[in-house]
Amino acid sequence: MKILVINCGSSSLKFQLIDALTEQVEAKGLCERIGIEGSRLVYTPGDGRKQIIETPMPDHKEAVRLVLNALTDKEHGVLNSLADIGASGHRIVHGGEKFSDATLITDEVLEAIRACNDLAPLHNPANLTGIEACRSLMPETPMAAVFDTAFHQTMPEEAYLYGIPYEYYEKYKLRRYGFHGTSHAYVSKRAAAVLNRSYEDLKIITCHLGNGASVAAVKKGVCVDTSMGLTPLEGLIMGTRSGDIDPAVIEFLAQKENKTLEQVLEILNKESGVLGLSGRLSSDFRDLEDGYLEGKKEAVRAVDAFVYRVAKYIGAYAAAMNGVDAICFTAGLGENSAMIRRKVCGYLGYLGVAIREDLNEVRGQEIVISEKGAKPAVLVIPTNEELAIARETFRLVRKQD
Ligand code: ADP
Repeated sequence: MKILVINCGSSSLKFQLIDALTEQVEAKGLCERIGIEGSRLVYTPGDGRKQIIETPMPDHKEAVRLVLNALTDKEHGVLNSLADIGASGHRIVHGGEKFSDATLITDEVLEAIRACNDLAPLHNPANLTGIEACRSLMPETPMAAVFDTAFHQTMPEEAYLYGIPYEYYEKYKLRRYGFHGTSHAYVSKRAAAVLNRSYEDLKIITCHLGNGASVAAVKKGVCVDTSMGLTPLEGLIMGTRSGDIDPAVIEFLAQKENKTLEQVLEILNKESGVLGLSGRLSSDFRDLEDGYLEGKKEAVRAVDAFVYRVAKYIGAYAAAMNGVDAICFTAGLGENSAMIRRKVCGYLGYLGVAIREDLNEVRGQEIVISEKGAKPAVLVIPTNEELAIARETFRLVRKQD
């Protein structure tokens, strides 16, 4: 069965067509600038011959239509007909407390996802556009929703409650939810497989370090804590997000800079993190690493603060789980930056962490980079959220048959 995995942002749509049995990617691509002038579809079929189709895409429905056309195109397509698509799997950022697992999409499910829009006003409505487009263009094809928050729903109350009046949790479900759950789940399971240990026996800390970044504590196969909160703003210092700050900073900045709440939040989301700390040098770690090696103080400041925060969270989660068997690095930076891994691990000698420099330099592979037999093991596990979504979708569709 072929599964079409769709990840819709407000003006973009990423897709992969995955064969559920072989787990091969048969085609993939990206629609950019949807609803904006200059929109285009970048389409790469399995033979790797990339095609760029520049054409107006007023909305996500048109984007999905173009993707389906590309997939069934006589020359560059990989499908004979749309009927070959067995199901579509959709990434949904926020499932609130309602969804602790992926689910097949029905009218009731759609309503329940819409009810979570308040919790993720920037993400969920955009995610829903993909579902609506597939529903109108392929009404007979089953669809599944896979939530970024679902894996974290096992967190105990002491980990997800904020220290504010409980009535706000009762009234608004205001609490920590956590994100990147599909990635943390995939990576922690792969770590158990690579170590040849039972998932249920391990205490694992997963560090998803990309432009957005979060850490999760996974004990005996369930998530017990994670660094992002009600929104993806909390936790680590990220590319452009501040991560943890004293909430009083918001009022202070609003007053001193004469800004509205929305403007301050925009600063915390888009102008902070390593971008802000480096005096706008860059939010991209490749630039920051270059700057670091050249001794630019702005880059050193940003990288050091980023690394320190990651190390602090790992220490906190080792404490929360009363130990740690494996620490995993994943996502753009976690998978590629030997420097960041070396620096984070440099803080963790007290836990017994010892990595091998030669193994730390390896790229793009699932690999244990710690000394043989050292505990905790340190691993690099390339994440694959699309494959995880395809697997979940296939599981649900098969169960239904
Ligand atoms: P997201 O999906 O959150 O947008 P990614 O997981 O793609 O982010 O990660 C993007 C980050 O990974 C960027 O900061 C980028 O600089 C960093 N990155 C990618 N490749 C490398 C590399 N070779 N060395 C250092 N950092 C890298």
